[in-house]
Amino acid sequence: MNFHILTLFPEMVMNGLNTSIIGRAVNAGHLSIEAVNIRDYAFNKHQSVDDYPYGGGAGMLMQAEPVYLAHEAVAEKIRSRKGAAGHGETDRRFRTVYLSPQGSVFDQKMAENLAQEEDLILLCGHYEGIDERVLEEIVTDYVSIGDYVLTGGELPAMVMVDAISRLVPGVLHNDVSAEFESFQDSLLEYPQYSRPEEWHGKKVPPVLLSGHHANIEKWRREQSIIRTYERRPDLLEKCELTEKEKKWFREWLEENM
Ligand code: SAM
Repeated sequence: MNFHILTLFPEMVMNGLNTSIIGRAVNAGHLSIEAVNIRDYAFNKHQSVDDYPYGGGAGMLMQAEPVYLAHEAVAEKIRSRKGAAGHGETDRRFRTVYLSPQGSVFDQKMAENLAQEEDLILLCGHYEGIDERVLEEIVTDYVSIGDYVLTGGELPAMVMVDAISRLVPGVLHNDVSAEFESFQDSLLEYPQYSRPEEWHGKKVPPVLLSGHHANIEKWRREQSIIRTYERRPDLLEKCELTEKEKKWFREWLEENM
């Protein structure tokens, strides 16, 4: 999968993404990440990319033209890489996400959906944001990472690249580890333990030492349900429990409430 990040701060993005699992996945060729400096497309005397908003108001706004040209350069690169196979792609809008507090809130489902793309363009705003007209022309998705306002879209873009990359085949050595994680089936992950068997007087739950796989799976599923109930009850409402699990959970509630 290829990520193309349009930003005024390319070093920030690349420095944040070239280590650990994501860095290794890039070196292994499972991912490519490029940060495109929007300022390189500001063909005016001072290479400026921002200006005052019409109508007044606080702060500066990123201008349409440099953003448009930077996006066009990336789109052209994708088209020419696809070559003949991409014939007819010239009219297609490549999936382009504008990171914005006004967007839909990013979640695991969205990450799974975006991980299907071969190319993903992420547009980072700064200052008070970006001239609306260019957003109308190039953006396909508006995505927020939460209901708060940051100074720029770089950290949100890095969050998205990280979460999406983990779902790209080959990025995690053990594909199973992405499978049984929090948010699968709208449940949070069960508690996990490693050596030693006893630490600060706390013992690892005996079932995990039993070697009985069916019992371990059952225990983990039940722990996921309890944990989700305790920490994110809103998620539990979306989860489809079997009749047997519903009965078990009612009994657990009676015993523990
Ligand atoms: N004036 C804008 C508004 O009220 O919607 C906020 C601009 S913010 C200071 C500057 C940039 O940071 C935005 O253009 C966006 O790219 C990014 N940003 C800020 N908060 C974000 C969030 N919660 N999720 C995603 N991007 C965010």
